[in-house]
Amino acid sequence: MRNTLFTLAALSVLFFSSCVENSKAEKESTIASGMKDQSKISANDPTTADSALVGKKASSAEVLAKKEVPVLCYHQIRDWKASDSKRAHDDIIPPANFSQHIKMLADSGYHTILPDELYDYLNYDKPLPEKPIMITFDDTDLDQYTVGAKELKKYGFKGVFFIMTVSIGRPRYMSKAQIKELSDEGHVIASHTWNHKNFAQFTDEDWEVQIDKPTKTLEAITGKKVEYFAYPYGVSKAASLHKLEEHGFKAAFILSTKRDLEYPLFTIRRIIDPGTYTAKNLYNSINKSFK
Ligand SMILES: [Zn+2]
Repeated sequence: MRNTLFTLAALSVLFFSSCVENSKAEKESTIASGMKDQSKISANDPTTADSALVGKKASSAEVLAKKEVPVLCYHQIRDWKASDSKRAHDDIIPPANFSQHIKMLADSGYHTILPDELYDYLNYDKPLPEKPIMITFDDTDLDQYTVGAKELKKYGFKGVFFIMTVSIGRPRYMSKAQIKELSDEGHVIASHTWNHKNFAQFTDEDWEVQIDKPTKTLEAITGKKVEYFAYPYGVSKAASLHKLEEHGFKAAFILSTKRDLEYPLFTIRRIIDPGTYTAKNLYNSINKSFK
């Protein structure tokens, strides 16, 4: 992930020149975000029609008072190498461990849910399946497609893939076709910025570069709306959370830090399932972290 950043300098020159030239794309993007803005305020919008039937949207305090649904976060799924640091073992889970952990979830009666279900539960009290859990993957790594999705499929589980769009099609990352396939199979494709820039350090320009353009890219690949976001490094910034909503997002995911009192939907907690955990460790961690 960090290695990626070092290779970006050259790309960014290309990127910014195309950004300036592509005024048509920018106009389309403005229209698209305009549509999304409308959808937020219109109670009759088809995307919220189901939810509207359930009742009034919950207040922030009501959202915070609900039982939290466990959300797991994965990065690389591969065997450790001698060159990996000990710290990296938190973000790298060997396939055999991953397989055992997912099996444990199935054996323990967990059912995977997707962000729309979580959103409707938090806002409108829509019922969830028994023992709900969300499984998420960050950073676009290819092994999430080859190993991750394959393991989930054994149990009929669905996951959420937070894509860093700069990596699409690069070696060891997923291609457009693979992302589309995941989407078609019922997994959710969501945003993780263009090049993993820290959200707390966004400039005005980054709302186009790191947010609107990646949304358009992913929507073009999947043919579906992109409405969920995960913060790189899990780092959010209270003063900017309203802007994510203005840019068309329904909710966003942090790591295991504290939720924002005003914007709990934009600070939904996740825990990392470290490569060093046993399945039992994971089970205990889920129950300790989500109350
Ligand atoms: Zn990331």
